[in-house]
Amino acid sequence: MAATAQNIFLTKKEKLKCITCGKRIPKGKSYVAESEGHKGTCFSCSPFVGYVMLPPGNAAMTRRSKKHSTLCAIVLAWNQRRKRFERQGQLVEESAIEKARLECEKDQAARDVKNKKAAIVREIKDREYKIEFAKAIRRRYPNCPRDREFDIAKHACEKYSGRVGRTANAKQFDAKMIDLAVEAHIRHAETDYDTRFGQGKGKREIRSEVKYDINHILKKWSGRIG
Ligand SMILES: [Zn+2]
Repeated sequence: MAATAQNIFLTKKEKLKCITCGKRIPKGKSYVAESEGHKGTCFSCSPFVGYVMLPPGNAAMTRRSKKHSTLCAIVLAWNQRRKRFERQGQLVEESAIEKARLECEKDQAARDVKNKKAAIVREIKDREYKIEFAKAIRRRYPNCPRDREFDIAKHACEKYSGRVGRTANAKQFDAKMIDLAVEAHIRHAETDYDTRFGQGKGKREIRSEVKYDINHILKKWSGRIG
């Protein structure tokens, strides 16, 4: 079990020598030492011959393979632009990687089950939320055409998924939120808004052109005019 990790530098220095075999270590090759300023060995003289490189990016694999390996070495390469050494991965025993992989696989099954359950709960909540939203639309716009509240709620929930109301109590819908959803629906379903594009007019201009029609329908649906 590797409690600590040994550094291995893909050295940026020209004149490093192995304290064991005395050979010069060329720039860019492995220098096994606490730092480039410390005494160290070449890779062949280190205990890491036969070890396998695990690339970074998977925290669980990094942690677990280190735990299962007799020794562990962090391989560091010099980044000239950032002027610092950066982690390239770690050297561990092949068997340690295998053990870590199996542990992660085992977890993965449990994680998948958990995710699946969470997805089902989310789906049910989503459905309930849409129904409640549709009811709130119907209450505020009692003259809205039949079943239209469900189209509006569906569309609004897709559009604002995760942004509007999801954290709030599903039964407390903001009047403004309902108005905006209904207004957007009327714009597309009850006016010629969508066909007015492509004639050199901007979105803002077209919106203001259909505003009167929208307001008229909003009033009608809300029961404020007959
Ligand atoms: Zn050596």
